[in-house]
Amino acid sequence: LPPGERVGFAFVGLGRLTLEELLPAFAECKTARPVALVSGSPEKAKVVAAQHGIKESSVYSYDDFDRIADNPEVQVVYVVLPNGLHRDFVIRAAKAGKHVMCEKPMANSSQEARDMIAACKQAGVRLMVAYRCQYEPYNREVIQRVRSGDMGAARIIEATNTQVMGPGDQWRFRKALAGGGALPDIGLYCLNTARAITGEEPVEVFARIFNPQADDRYREVEETIAFMLRFPSGTMANCSSSYGAHESKDLRVRLEKGRIDLENAFAYEGQQMRVAQRGGKAEVIDTVRMPQQNQFSLEIDHMAACVKENRVPRTPGEEGLQDHHLMRRSTGQPKPGRLSRL
Ligand code: NDP
Repeated sequence: LPPGERVGFAFVGLGRLTLEELLPAFAECKTARPVALVSGSPEKAKVVAAQHGIKESSVYSYDDFDRIADNPEVQVVYVVLPNGLHRDFVIRAAKAGKHVMCEKPMANSSQEARDMIAACKQAGVRLMVAYRCQYEPYNREVIQRVRSGDMGAARIIEATNTQVMGPGDQWRFRKALAGGGALPDIGLYCLNTARAITGEEPVEVFARIFNPQADDRYREVEETIAFMLRFPSGTMANCSSSYGAHESKDLRVRLEKGRIDLENAFAYEGQQMRVAQRGGKAEVIDTVRMPQQNQFSLEIDHMAACVKENRVPRTPGEEGLQDHHLMRRSTGQPKPGRLSRL
């Protein structure tokens, strides 16, 4: 679409994700364009605005953010702040009459997620949680193949999302700003993907966490978590996530008649998919190849299309709320060793 017909996005928070992934992704967007920035760093915002052809008058501070209501170019506000700040900025954006996109995890708690959904509903605006993997083509292919039933029922899902965090202090180690550690930050992809693959909600969740005692970074948030989900049809998902293990972002599905492996399932790029099935007596292994597409461009264009066509996004606020509900169930276990039942 020509610039004038594209949906205008405002970015709140110019951190790593916004600068390194989201703004560059507009080069591949077809229906969206960046038109405003909201930042606590005016000098940085000025430079970034110039780089992306954004007017200086469309750069806001956190204090004067509410003035964005008067900027007709802005149709969607995309909140890319530390998790503990999502709630307030999503509510402010809704009150300004703007549709809202919010980074994952949606918030710090189920209650915050509920407040955000209610505010958007009251303002009559759309709310989408940026679960990028649900827009990534290989992940979609796994979901489609499992749900088609062609390979029989899915028995076991294994999902791992680990990465080593650098030393030093940052908001991700502060509970007030992050809500938790590896689980809400990266383990969330395992949870959300297991739900997307089965199309079901788990009836049981069980989790254990580990924090290295001598590491000050893990005083407030968890370093490592393993959790298990049992779905009503019988699918079991084994999920694990850690801030202390070498990068591994893989998804494996074991079905009655075959298996699907997606390497780098939760990474920004580099997905590799293999499907093994019985073909007569032998096992046939196919490597599935699809054109690489920027998943950030795809999710931004999805939101833009929803705004243009007045549709509910694939990953609305309710999707984020359900994940918060399950994360609370899995980590808030009253008695060790007991399964918590939903
Ligand atoms: P960064 O720390 O790199 O950036 C956060 C930005 O938020 C800062 O640069 C700053 O922007 C602004 N900010 C405002 N208040 C604070 C505060 N008190 N402390 C720190 N920063 C503050 O974080 P990320 O970009 O990595 O993460 C932002 C959000 O995006 C999180 O919710 C995270 O979970 C999510 N994320 C999602 C990913 C995905 O793959 N979908 C990947 C990475 C992150 P400014 O200077 O402009 O004010």
